[in-house]
Amino acid sequence: MLPQIITYLLMLINYQEQMIRTLLTLLIGKSMFDKPIEAPVNKPYRKLQVDDLPIIEVPEKLDFKQLLTEHLAANGKPLKPVQRRSNSTPVPASMKCPKCGAPSEYLYANNGGKGQFQCKVCSCLFNQKSRYLKEAILKCPHCAKTLEKIKERKDFNVFKCKNNDCSYYQKKLSRMSQKEKKRFKEDPQAFKMRYIYRQFHIDYQPLAKHSPKKPKVDLSRLYVSPHTLGLILTYHVNYGLSARKTAALMKDIHGVSISHQSILNYENSVALTLKPYVDHYPYELSDQFCGDETYIRVNGRWHYLFFFFDAVKKVILSYPVSPNRDTATAIRAIDEVLLKLKEIPENLTFVVDGNPIYLLAQHFFSQHEIPFDVIQVIGLTNEDEVSKEYRPLKQIIERLNRTFKGNYRSTHGFGSEQGSVSFVTLFVAYFNFLRPHSALEGKVPVLIPELEQLPNMPARWTKLIDLAQQWLIDQTA
Ligand SMILES: [Zn+2]
Ligand SMILES: [Zn+2]
Repeated sequence: MLPQIITYLLMLINYQEQMIRTLLTLLIGKSMFDKPIEAPVNKPYRKLQVDDLPIIEVPEKLDFKQLLTEHLAANGKPLKPVQRRSNSTPVPASMKCPKCGAPSEYLYANNGGKGQFQCKVCSCLFNQKSRYLKEAILKCPHCAKTLEKIKERKDFNVFKCKNNDCSYYQKKLSRMSQKEKKRFKEDPQAFKMRYIYRQFHIDYQPLAKHSPKKPKVDLSRLYVSPHTLGLILTYHVNYGLSARKTAALMKDIHGVSISHQSILNYENSVALTLKPYVDHYPYELSDQFCGDETYIRVNGRWHYLFFFFDAVKKVILSYPVSPNRDTATAIRAIDEVLLKLKEIPENLTFVVDGNPIYLLAQHFFSQHEIPFDVIQVIGLTNEDEVSKEYRPLKQIIERLNRTFKGNYRSTHGFGSEQGSVSFVTLFVAYFNFLRPHSALEGKVPVLIPELEQLPNMPARWTKLIDLAQQWLIDQTA
């Protein structure tokens, strides 16, 4: 008896809930099919003042090849690589001597795995964490005094100019009001008075080209025809319909029975196939790029999707997803743009919002001798007004964001990182190769003649997949 009552009550509650939703729909005018869209909390990023770059003095550099030749000439036999015993601490294969560039075969792991190394060629001692440190001496750009390391953090060290005569410090002092001076005496930590530089030692090698990997999927094994796959992608990606609605459409209109889970699985395979093509395509680019972060939900948590795209050509060039809005991801996002440039243009500029991570990323690249300008526009991606100069850019970013959100909305978030990467990859493929853009006179950003002459979108998706597969075969052949 009791279970029946509960079932009845549940039914009643369900019914009431439906009534309320219908009423709300009538009142607010929203579709009752729309799931409520929960907005992420727009956490303000840490307001961090990023100073100018320091003067970087590069100490004497040696060339291991020359040193090895000299060794051979002096000793009559070549210098042998380090002989490693089976129990000795391994040296990472990617590691090089910071002073002479000798590869890992010539490096000793010095003190029992504590991260110290020595080069057999030039005898240079170095630490894994501070190996960039060896490369340069950092000096204050305001007074030319050597900076002092004051903090060691996970991803960076903090350097400070402690010179009391430094013009930076003197200027800050002179600008203080009496009240501020009094507070400064009581709580010196509350003020940023001195020149600060953060030196990154993120283990990330910029511009490291990696050849495309053949994905471990075989689209010919999918239990679905290429045309059906093209239809599915058109509904789900181009029109932003949910996987469930796409499944229903396939059944009701095309008479094809396919579960929404199969749709997601197929799309995952397509994304893996398209990704190398999208990422290695030889795009024609300008030298003006802008970046923005937007939110997506992965495993019930908000993640950040970093978009970087060519502001002139409207091509999306990088799209990493990260649980954090941090400098490491900003570096990755910018690096993926740099990798697509045939050479680094002289006036390379990134226009971004006010988040200090982009300045820190700029410093990181300049440490690796890859200079570029960062223009930070407050209000570029939020409600604030921006200057007239950047208003068109703001509109471009807003349009990209609207397009993405329109397509993303139907997904209700992703169950896994892989799912989010797949969806974003398909979106980027669509955006770059298939979607006509009003700012380009209705043309798609990347014109591929083979796609253009096709009569409809499913055919274009199919052809794009073909091109990507063919390209992969050519690359790995
Ligand atoms: Zn060396
Ligand atoms: Zn100084």
